[in-house]
Parts: sequence; structure tokens; C-alpha cells
Amino acid sequence: MGTLRTIADIRTATPNSVGDGFIGLNAFHPQGSRPFNPFLMLDHHGPMQVQPSEYPKGVDEHPHRGFETVTIVYEGALEHRDSAGNRGKLFAGDVQWMTAASGIIHEEKHEQEFSRRGGQLDFVQLWVNLPAKDKMSPPQYQDIASSRIPTGTLPGGGQLRVIAGELASLPGPARTFSPIVVADLALSSGQTETLTVPINYAFMAYVLRGSVTVNGKLVSRGQIALTNLDGDTISWGATADAKVLILAGEPIQEPLAVYGPFVMNTREEILEAYNDFQNGRMGVLN
Ligand code: MN
Repeated sequence: MGTLRTIADIRTATPNSVGDGFIGLNAFHPQGSRPFNPFLMLDHHGPMQVQPSEYPKGVDEHPHRGFETVTIVYEGALEHRDSAGNRGKLFAGDVQWMTAASGIIHEEKHEQEFSRRGGQLDFVQLWVNLPAKDKMSPPQYQDIASSRIPTGTLPGGGQLRVIAGELASLPGPARTFSPIVVADLALSSGQTETLTVPINYAFMAYVLRGSVTVNGKLVSRGQIALTNLDGDTISWGATADAKVLILAGEPIQEPLAVYGPFVMNTREEILEAYNDFQNGRMGVLN
């Protein structure tokens, strides 16, 4: 057996809503993201009850530059369109991996039919930093249907679904710019599991539902556990039926400059991003 990592911190997410239709929690944000490097932000919207509406709610058009936004839908449905011409609908289990890189303008809403019907919505949005050399690369878009995401049963009966990177020999379909793992773990009350992670990866676990122990420490819904980089083994014990979002990756050891929807390396690059956005150089949403 490997060495159990020690827990560096357990943080409780704070109430957060975005636009007029996404209500929930923020686990960490770009200004305070250094301990979570290479990740910049994690929002958990839901579970929330969406009231029927002819006009889909959500977030109106806004820009991003310098990183990737990853949206994982657990319940309900979302719709997206952006200035690079991408359009997408996401249903339960689907993932949208948007590389804003040099700049994109997008809109994120409840899916039209879902909005008309109303219902339960539960999703996360994760921001993944890009290495400096990739921040100004062309925008990309990966629409990852749930059917493309491998799911495996772990020795203790837990269900693991790997979106990016490799965990428990399951390869995730997302293309990434730096070595990371994004995965969903579902455990029934009483189940225990052990996972091995690369020794040089930051590792964190956000509890979406229920509660688990992570290397002996209790982590409940709306909390994120952050480990030190002092081992390769994570042990889990579900104290209730639980769903956990696993995030791991090699920290990107470069300076950060953050301003709202722009995450670059220097203040000059932030001013340039702001200027490019103001002057329409991040495209137009038609
Ligand atoms: Mn956005």
C-alpha cells in the first residue's frame, strides 16, 4: 500500500448565485485559488427548483480569457452559445469543456424545453487554469456526452466516472492542456474505497451530496477537502449515500493576475484583455 496523504484543509462553500438562474454555493474563487492550483474556481449550483418560464434564465453574454470553463450537469438541462459559433445542450451526465483561451463571449442558460417545463437543476462549473504558453491559443469547445464518459465499479462497490485524466485505470475523454483529473465518485452509505493519485498532483474532493471521510476526516455536503502533496493514497468511507467531485492535477507554477472573467499572468495582460473585450476583439455573439 502507498502512503496516505494528510488533509491540509476542509473548507465550507459559501452561498453564491450567478445571473438570474443559477443559485448555489462557491467552494473557491480565482482570487483565493492558489491552494487549489491548477483549478481556479468551483461553483455548485443546485439542487434548485426551476419554475416554468417561457424565457430561459441563466447568465447573459459575458467574456472569458486565459482559462477553461467546465460544466458538469447532474440534473436538469442547460443550453450554451458562444462567439466562436458553438451551440450546445447539456442534459444530466453531460459535460461541456470550453477552452476560452485567447477569448470568447458566451451565454449560459437553462435549456429551452427544460425552462418551459421547470424542474430540478443541479450542476457544477469548474474553471481550469491554462499554462501561460496556451492562454492565447484559439478557443476550443468539447461537448462530451454522458455516453462517452467511462464508468467503473471500484472494489468496494463505489461507482467512479472519469471525465478527464486517468483514475483507477479509467481514462477520461476530455483533452486537457496540463495533467489533471476530473472525476465523479458515488458511494453508498458504509462503502469504503482506496484510490491512488500521482504524488505530484494537488488533490481535492468536493462533496456534492451526503458525507464521506477522506483519509479519516469527515467532509459533508458543500465542503471541499484539500490534501497535502505528501502521499499517493486517498481512502474513502461513506457515512451516508454520497456523491463527490474529485479534482487533481499538477500545479501550474506561474504568476496569476485575476480580474473578473479574465485570468492571466500579469497585470498588463489583464489590461490588454479588458481592452480587447471593449473593442470587440473577443468576437460577437450572434
Ligand atoms: Mn461563463
